[in-house]
Amino acid sequence: MASSRIFAPRGTQDGLPGEIRMKRFVESVFMEHCRCYGYHEAHTPVFEYSELFERGVGPVTDIVEKEMYTFTDKHGERLALRPEGTAALARTIIEHDLTKDLPLKLSYKITCYRQENPAEGRLREFHQIGAECYGSLLPQADSEVITLAYTALRAMGIRDLTLNINSLGCQSCRTSYINALVRYLLPHANSGELCSTCVSRMGRSPLRVMDCKNPSCREVAKKAPKLADFLCDDCRDHYEGVKASLDAVGIPYNEKNHLIRGLDYYERTVFEFKAGEGGANGTVCGGGRYDGLCARLGGPNIPAVGFAIGEERAIIAMRESGMEEIPPEKPLVYVASDAPSRASRGAARLRGLGVYAERDLMGLGLKAQIKAAKDCGARWLVITGEDGIRLTDLKTGAEQPMPTEAWDDVARAISE
Ligand SMILES: [Zn+2]
Ligand SMILES: [Zn+2]
Repeated sequence: MASSRIFAPRGTQDGLPGEIRMKRFVESVFMEHCRCYGYHEAHTPVFEYSELFERGVGPVTDIVEKEMYTFTDKHGERLALRPEGTAALARTIIEHDLTKDLPLKLSYKITCYRQENPAEGRLREFHQIGAECYGSLLPQADSEVITLAYTALRAMGIRDLTLNINSLGCQSCRTSYINALVRYLLPHANSGELCSTCVSRMGRSPLRVMDCKNPSCREVAKKAPKLADFLCDDCRDHYEGVKASLDAVGIPYNEKNHLIRGLDYYERTVFEFKAGEGGANGTVCGGGRYDGLCARLGGPNIPAVGFAIGEERAIIAMRESGMEEIPPEKPLVYVASDAPSRASRGAARLRGLGVYAERDLMGLGLKAQIKAAKDCGARWLVITGEDGIRLTDLKTGAEQPMPTEAWDDVARAISE
């Protein structure tokens, strides 16, 4: 009886070698930038107590209300798969008391999970790389992380990058803005122009209406009062400082008055990088300042600013920018023999010396092995026989005899 096939869950993506080579490239470019900027890699668990994200990301957010994978384990603990990186990293910092030596600059490379409707660039399991700077209130910290994101995205080969920035103000100036916003939104809610989610959120988190994706809500949001007009002096100075600092490093930006980023922990600076045409799925990076997050999670009051890049989206943007697939590495040498154990021995010795060596595993005869060596793109061919080794340069055809077991000499000859 034939068994039925099982497929990958909806919204997940298998990492085939070509895709993984792109991912490794993205990650290595990012980590190299983090090294130059002094951001050290830290890891957090894939699952956390649900409460961490409910309090950190905020209860009235798409992530917590609709998208989080939550479950109760055997001991009755309420857990959640990590939907984003920032709240968990803040928890780590508090838990390990890392806030004594500031600024603290960390980077990460994580898998995240959200139950979204799958679409291109929107997966239920996805990968993020990010960087966070803890301890500085200065606008230069904001511009440093933005610069890090910008230069890394550029180095990945993404062209047509747009940086949008905004300031959400602090707790106090935001309150006066929210009052004005609610006054503006109420008649639109009553006339049925807002979606049901927005209406239900208006009392608890009216700011969310500003980044609702519903077309009718977007129209209403366009004419809403601007946050920029409500900033207190400190917030205005900070925002001006961020812009001046970006000007100083020559990074172009657009001020986008209605940019909110749908997470509760943001204060003051928020930003996003869009690639290409820049639809919702063209957002390759999002970030901002979250000065209140540590305190909200029961830790000390420590300002912070950071961002996350979506790896899958960055790869889409790289391909749209004309970046070609990364070919697999070709073997440096193919070890052929009429005796499989001699080929095993030779290949093992060369591999032990750090050489990418291939050999036959399909039971080919010597002649077919020599053809396989050429087909796989190896630069060198080694034929190991009873009475010695013959090394052939497959590019020039030049041959060189070597003594039996002279694998160090072979490795030296082919690595030059
Ligand atoms: Zn303020
Ligand atoms: Zn809405």
